[in-house]
Amino acid sequence: MGSSGSKLEKALGDQFPEGERYFGLENFGNTCYCNSVLQALYFCVPFRDQLLDHASRTKVSGDADDNLLTCLSELFTQINSQKKKTGVIAPKRFIQRVKKQNELFRSYMHQDAHEFLNFLLNELVDILEREATASSKPTSGQVHPDKLANGTANGTANGNHHHSVVTWVHKIFQGTLTNETRCLRCETITARDETFLDLSLDIEQNSSITSCLRNFSSTETLNAEDKFFCDKCCSLQEAQKRMKIKSPPRILALHLKRFKYIEQLGRYKKLSYRVVFPLELKLCNTTDDAPGSEAEYSLFAVVVHVGSGPNHGHYVSLVKSHNHWLFFDDENVEIIDESVVQTFFGSTQEYSNNTDHGYILFYESLEQKH
Ligand SMILES: [Zn+2]
Repeated sequence: MGSSGSKLEKALGDQFPEGERYFGLENFGNTCYCNSVLQALYFCVPFRDQLLDHASRTKVSGDADDNLLTCLSELFTQINSQKKKTGVIAPKRFIQRVKKQNELFRSYMHQDAHEFLNFLLNELVDILEREATASSKPTSGQVHPDKLANGTANGTANGNHHHSVVTWVHKIFQGTLTNETRCLRCETITARDETFLDLSLDIEQNSSITSCLRNFSSTETLNAEDKFFCDKCCSLQEAQKRMKIKSPPRILALHLKRFKYIEQLGRYKKLSYRVVFPLELKLCNTTDDAPGSEAEYSLFAVVVHVGSGPNHGHYVSLVKSHNHWLFFDDENVEIIDESVVQTFFGSTQEYSNNTDHGYILFYESLEQKH
């Protein structure tokens, strides 16, 4: 292990980024789903900065209430403050906390990295919201005015506003979708907004992220049993529905739905489809009036699922840091060439020797970089 660390240092030589640390994470029995997501998040710079900041603040105030947020910020601080530039760290306290918190992750069975990412982000949001509510008087600027309206503003029809506190997790990952439904009788458009922290995309063989996003936003006709209740017509009508991105997030996390339930088999199957994900992505499915409707993104991390089935396998991650691509496989960290990224697109044949497929993609907005 020590030798692989120095190998990485040798490979980078003078180009080893100042102040950066590349540490592998020890596996505690099928915890690669967690390690791969943690590496992607550690190299999500705005996310890392917030956690390091949180750790330094709780250290000062001394009230380190043990929760997932404190455990994660401690882990990131531990990596960031290592004397050595490379090596291995055991994320033991963090894993214990995850298992304590969620029985789903308690077993040694293979877990889903996307479920874990979802759980983690939502858990952090809950903790930050609780902290904000506890520490701020109702007049504090941190609380959204909606909160003060006591249900009058947000208690109405489409009031899906659970998040009256905007946390830094929202500021980094949250985007807004708008769901437009056009009544085919009266042409009235009903728009409903919903927020997301990541997007799950259906995939097709021999496709690309751009085509998956286009399908995500394609027009769907509601008819027959599935008609739409139009408020203007006061009745069920045929309608056309489509979902577009109204405000693109700073960090766009895309989950490829590679695990599909096959009814005939009575179980999930992994789709090894080739889905090309570009290093630079231009969003094609934003609303015309969206701020930065030509939103441009750059790929900085990929969580890869290795294996042919959903119930076994392995997770690794690819990370871009200071213009170098790195490969993280639990304890091991290697430098890779940028061209290697395309070997994780998937395969055009159903059975292939290459079972390493991009599963969660992390893109960073080029406009909101600083
Ligand atoms: Zn109508």
